[in-house]
Amino acid sequence: MATEQGICKNCGSLLVVDSRDELCECLFCDCVFPSAEAIEIFNNPDGVEFPNLPQPKRDTKVQRHVATPVFEDIVEKAVKVDKAVNKDAKVEKLFEISPDDIKAPAKVKRNVVIITAASILLILGISIPLSVIRHNHGSNISDNIAVCFERSNLSVDTADEDGYSTGYKIWGQENNKLALVSSKDVEKEQVVNAFNAFCEIRGEEYGYAVDEARYYKGVVLTVYAPNGKFTIKGSKDGAGVDQVEFDAPEPVESESAAAESTTEGTSTAQ
Ligand SMILES: [Zn+2]
Repeated sequence: MATEQGICKNCGSLLVVDSRDELCECLFCDCVFPSAEAIEIFNNPDGVEFPNLPQPKRDTKVQRHVATPVFEDIVEKAVKVDKAVNKDAKVEKLFEISPDDIKAPAKVKRNVVIITAASILLILGISIPLSVIRHNHGSNISDNIAVCFERSNLSVDTADEDGYSTGYKIWGQENNKLALVSSKDVEKEQVVNAFNAFCEIRGEEYGYAVDEARYYKGVVLTVYAPNGKFTIKGSKDGAGVDQVEFDAPEPVESESAAAESTTEGTSTAQ
């Protein structure tokens, strides 16, 4: 076989040599050396050291040895050769850009998005359950509120209109406020009874014990009746008749009625 693969003994380049030639020549470093040696290095590159010495320039007229650079995929041997060639030349690559550097801006963007999303979720995560919980408690109290009106013998319209009852309203951060409209005149005793019933319903819903301060504290009941407005605010010990505030019917109604009649009168006059 004439053509064989070899490796330059000086620079480690892959060569194709003719085994019939006594000498071969490396196209890369101009090294001229025995073909047999190139073939031998190719076949057994382990431990071979490549001196990489400058080779004497030769007259271009001199016939050159046939040598063809090889680009075959002989990875394993090429790696061995490369190691042998570069074993003392571990040059630090000062300006190499690592993949991490390239990804950094995208990473920053992604982190900003993640942090923003997390913040929104955190806020929603706190506020949504709170409002849902409050709403659930509120509707549960609402379901039992009729007991409150029965016990106090108050005439309150409990009919629902689009999910909202017309005769009363429960609100407040802990569903601690109740306002209701009575179609009949009201006495303070009734207000106290309604207040106590509301505290009981609410306490049951929230799991508050009677001896707990929050069972009564902060609970406010307002009753609007034809004979006036009644307000009762619970302290930690509850509230009695003495705590019922009474406001006589506000003159605003008669004023507006008067205003209406005036307007009517004016329009009639015209
Ligand atoms: Zn060479």
